[in-house]
Order: sequence, then C-alpha cells, then structure tokens
Amino acid sequence: MPIKLPSLDLCFDRISKESNTHSFHLCAVAFTRSGHIIASSANRQLTRADGAKKWTEHAEEGLVRKLHNLKARQRFRTVYVLVARWSDAQGWLMAKPCGDCWRRLNNYDVDGVFYTNADGDIEDAFRFGTITSIQTP
Ligand SMILES: [Zn+2]
Repeated sequence: MPIKLPSLDLCFDRISKESNTHSFHLCAVAFTRSGHIIASSANRQLTRADGAKKWTEHAEEGLVRKLHNLKARQRFRTVYVLVARWSDAQGWLMAKPCGDCWRRLNNYDVDGVFYTNADGDIEDAFRFGTITSIQTP
C-alpha cells in the first residue's frame, strides 16, 4: 500500500494559525501510512515568562512533544512525518530537517520523513516511497 501524504493545504492552514515567525514558516505533520493525521505543529517564536529570552521552537520539536503526549508510537502502527516550509514571497521551500530535528525524529523512531524542496516537490528522506509532485497553492 502506498504511503498517503497529507495535503499541503493542511500544512498551510497550520502555518497560518500557529507560526508567528517572520522570516519563514515551517509545519510538521505526523500521519499514518493510510493518511490519518495524528498531530501537527508549526515553528513558533517563544519568549520566557520574564521576557528576557526569545527562541524559536522548530516545528519538529513541537511535533515530537505532541507525539509523546499522545502516545502515538504505542497507538499507531506507522508514524510518518511531513515537514513543509513556506515563504510568502517564494512559496514552498526546502524543509529538510536540521541536525537536531533529525535526532529528535530518529529518537522517536518514525517510519519515514518527507519534506518539501525548492521545486515545490515532496522528497522522501528515506527513499523507500515515491516522490510525489505537488502543486503550490
Ligand atoms: Zn530543526
């Protein structure tokens, strides 16, 4: 059975609602092989309670936390992740996870990772599925 990727419309919607960064917007979606959406998250700028420190939580970071809270690994046979990056000026961009996020996703033992590239396609990081062309909105 092919892996059913979530729609990028869902990523766009999540970014619109949650991402409060200005330079670029990232969304990470966890889904099962059949396309059931388990959880989603966007990159967010966070500020410490006293306002002294600001940092950006990566979309994958928030997503893995949600997966832990949901006990997704125990509840679902397969957990795949799609990471999408959006720029208001340029559309979908390369969203290959950074080193820290690769470690987070690997530690969570995800079954596969997909991400948008600069051509507006979705790449399969583990190369065991098919690369699916997508259309930018
Ligand atoms: Zn990251």
